Amino acid sequence: MTPPAPPVPRGRLTAFVLLVCVTAVGLAYLALADHAAPARRALLAEAHVTGVPVPGVGDRPGSGDGRVEGLIAPDADHVALDRLDPDLYDALNRAAVGAAEDGIALQVSSGWRSRAYQQHLLDAAIQKYGSREEALHWVETPDGSSHTSGDAVDVGPTEPAYWLSQHGSAYGLCQTYSNEIWHYELATRPGGACPSPR
Ligand SMILES: [Zn+2]
Repeated sequence: MTPPAPPVPRGRLTAFVLLVCVTAVGLAYLALADHAAPARRALLAEAHVTGVPVPGVGDRPGSGDGRVEGLIAPDADHVALDRLDPDLYDALNRAAVGAAEDGIALQVSSGWRSRAYQQHLLDAAIQKYGSREEALHWVETPDGSSHTSGDAVDVGPTEPAYWLSQHGSAYGLCQTYSNEIWHYELATRPGGACPSPR
């Protein structure tokens, strides 16, 4: 006859059950997180193309039009960044890592803007400069602005903007207006040469 198996010490059994539970919860979390990220990305990419408001994104008072108060981090949860062209968003954040390695904190003062917000900026510039012609030197129309299509980002403050003017081409980022050291677009391949600013 086989002798009965010795009883498992109760403390060790409890520890084993706990370990199994923690592992199961951890695996479930990883599986969910893995599926949520691409879904959110796809939703935002779609919003970028169609301009349709995304539920839960950009519906905060005062920020749904892409208005940025002061400066925000390049990876902040803000509609001005969420609706950037995904390639521009990636280049911006890679550049921010490069800047950080040089001790520079690259921040963002503007990204995607609604057409209404762009028109508001143009109207304000016409008031400020006294004529539409003069205002158009500084602010584009909703049709002309690369901010309304999510293809431009303004960076700050001054030192990071100068850093990007020197190093941006390594990430494909180019200053596209000669009078706006803060305004960048994807205008070359990473490591390529930037076209002369307009
Ligand atoms: Zn700009």
